Amino acid sequence: MFYLGVDLGGTNIAIGLVDEQGNILHKDSVPTLSARPPAEVVDDMAALCRKVTADAGKSMDDIAAVGIGVPGLTIDETGVVVFATNLGWHDVHMGTQLGRALNKPVHMDNDANVAALGEVVAGGMRGAKNAIFLTLGTGVGGGIVLDGKIFSGTHHVGGEVGHMITVINGEPCTCGNRGCWERYTSATALIREGKKAAQRNPQSLINKKVAGDLDKISARTVIDAAREEDADAVQIYRDYIEALALGIINLINLLDPEMVAVGGGVAAAGDFLLEPLKACVASHVFYKDAPHAEIVLAVLGNDAGIIGAAVDAMNKENA
Ligand SMILES: [Zn+2]
Repeated sequence: MFYLGVDLGGTNIAIGLVDEQGNILHKDSVPTLSARPPAEVVDDMAALCRKVTADAGKSMDDIAAVGIGVPGLTIDETGVVVFATNLGWHDVHMGTQLGRALNKPVHMDNDANVAALGEVVAGGMRGAKNAIFLTLGTGVGGGIVLDGKIFSGTHHVGGEVGHMITVINGEPCTCGNRGCWERYTSATALIREGKKAAQRNPQSLINKKVAGDLDKISARTVIDAAREEDADAVQIYRDYIEALALGIINLINLLDPEMVAVGGGVAAAGDFLLEPLKACVASHVFYKDAPHAEIVLAVLGNDAGIIGAAVDAMNKENA
């Protein structure tokens, strides 16, 4: 049998036909256009499910179930998206509606959770039973896989590693708290600190790279300046790595996973991120004489969500 994996994003809906081993046979996408009524989004999703299946040379009879990764909080048992901030959705019965439209079982989970499963099934953490996935973007998303399955806790709200509070009375977070880990470890953190440095020191390479237009500073600007050994950028990047390592050390001490994968925009820095990160984790992890999680780069990009959603549906159907 085959499964459809849906990656519901704020900009696009990407859907793939996935086999039982986690290979995408065919995929396609349409714009989400999230400002319209959710029922219309679900209609387009159903139409794309059918199109992807047909274009892959399969029929709906070949599809065992559909999985959806949602940027928000979902209750799989009731088929409800409780809220998805980026989509402006509250209490949308998406699972129920899509299930009725396609006459298939539909399962949902948080997008970072399913991406974690995707990286475990077919990506950078292939074969790991216990694994943590981190996505370093505008915020920091995270997914935890335990014993081969997504772990989202008792109330479906676990795995929100980005909102671990790591600094008492620290930087204000979009969630309303202060000092959340993602305030120090997202692309947004690099941009914020890069702007401060550029204002403080107009001679900094960060400032030169954007010709004084501070709104053009990206995470990449700061990382590139650090590579070129600009003193301000090097300090910002060192602090960034330390903050990132701190959270990963806590996660390793808590869960002792086999692997930790980092993805998202900042992870495009590759070994320039990975090597100092690994060194910092190794020197501060609690059990220094025992082996600890291997830290790797995520490799699937957006496909992680499609594959993970499909495999999550397969796991839940076979549970
Ligand atoms: Zn927060």
